[in-house]
Amino acid sequence: MSKSDLKFNSKTIHGGQQPDAAYGAVMPPIYQTSTYAQSTPGGHKGYEYSRSANPTRTALENALASIENGTYGLAFASGLSAIDAIIKLLTPGDEVVSTNDLYGGSYRLFKQVFEKFGITFHFMGMQSMDAIEAKINAKTKLLWIETPTNPMMNVIDIKAVAGLAKKHDLLLAVDNTFASPYLQRPLDLGADIVMHSATKYLGGHSDVVVGALVVKDKELADKLYFIQNASGAVCGPMDSFLTLRGIKTLHVRMQRHCENGKLIAEYLADHPKIGKVYWPGFEDHPNHQIAKSQMDDYGGMISFVPNGSSYEDAIKIVEKLKVFTLAESLGGVESLAGHPASMTHASIPKAEREKSGVVDALIRLSVGIEDASDLIADLEQAIG
Ligand SMILES: *Cc1c(COP(=O)(O)O)cnc(C)c1O
Repeated sequence: MSKSDLKFNSKTIHGGQQPDAAYGAVMPPIYQTSTYAQSTPGGHKGYEYSRSANPTRTALENALASIENGTYGLAFASGLSAIDAIIKLLTPGDEVVSTNDLYGGSYRLFKQVFEKFGITFHFMGMQSMDAIEAKINAKTKLLWIETPTNPMMNVIDIKAVAGLAKKHDLLLAVDNTFASPYLQRPLDLGADIVMHSATKYLGGHSDVVVGALVVKDKELADKLYFIQNASGAVCGPMDSFLTLRGIKTLHVRMQRHCENGKLIAEYLADHPKIGKVYWPGFEDHPNHQIAKSQMDDYGGMISFVPNGSSYEDAIKIVEKLKVFTLAESLGGVESLAGHPASMTHASIPKAEREKSGVVDALIRLSVGIEDASDLIADLEQAIG
């Protein structure tokens, strides 16, 4: 049986992996080296300099390609540097149509770095294909989507957007950080590039900052590899090792994230002191049907608004939490709580933020894999 025929859970462990050539090490050694001896100029064993390639990074890149059902994986120093490489495929004058409630750092990179270089970004809700199509013009080169969105948990129909991208000959890139390939595989749905902040679910232990891209097309892979090597934001060997180790338990962690997420979403929805709860698993979530069709489960990311809905109401709750840690980031084994308006989304102007629902009182939870009853008891004492 070939390793590419394995099912998802087996692929997280074996996909793209072989025992190391030197001594048969089952986990790839951490090749903590910048350079490689050559017998004659150009006479090397496939590696010449670790910006260009490193064996530990190659092992991670092969694992990434395998779990996203792609062909080529690229591992970067951070999720944002992976996004940076995608935007560098464009040239001045090009336009991008993007989700409006996206990761704050992506918004900052687009608006404050790349607009200076003459690339224009349009941000919009991406529920209506007609509305997206109306924004596409001759200069549009890339559609950028994040689904579920951060932090509002909107779900975008990847297959439908991929249809638009094909029709207009555009690239479609999907930030798959929130779902992870355990829940959704955008390349199978027609996307050209899948991007991850591997810092989150893929690494899964809050111990690295790593980014990833996976594609199927060789020409696109070559262009992205050229940019990665030319710009240099590569994932180091130690971080490659840790991320690879994280990926090997992605499926069991995700299963528990989903189970706990469901219990906590239901607890919050029933709570008299909580107003809105955003979680795509609810049947009355506006995009539930799309979520059901393109995701295998609904994940552990939940946003909610306490009654009263002031900035102070939200701050009081997050400060009281004891099992949930108040922190940026998500996707680790430990539960985290965040306040988007003052933390992850502070770089987005308030008016812009509120248009997409990121009000001052919104709280975002990354539900971890602890005992759900401990997490619920913690929320209970904090909400009061
Ligand atoms: C964290 C995050 C990023 C940025 O990744 P870094 O690894 O922090 O650079 C991008 N997109 C989403 C959805 C994220 O959560």
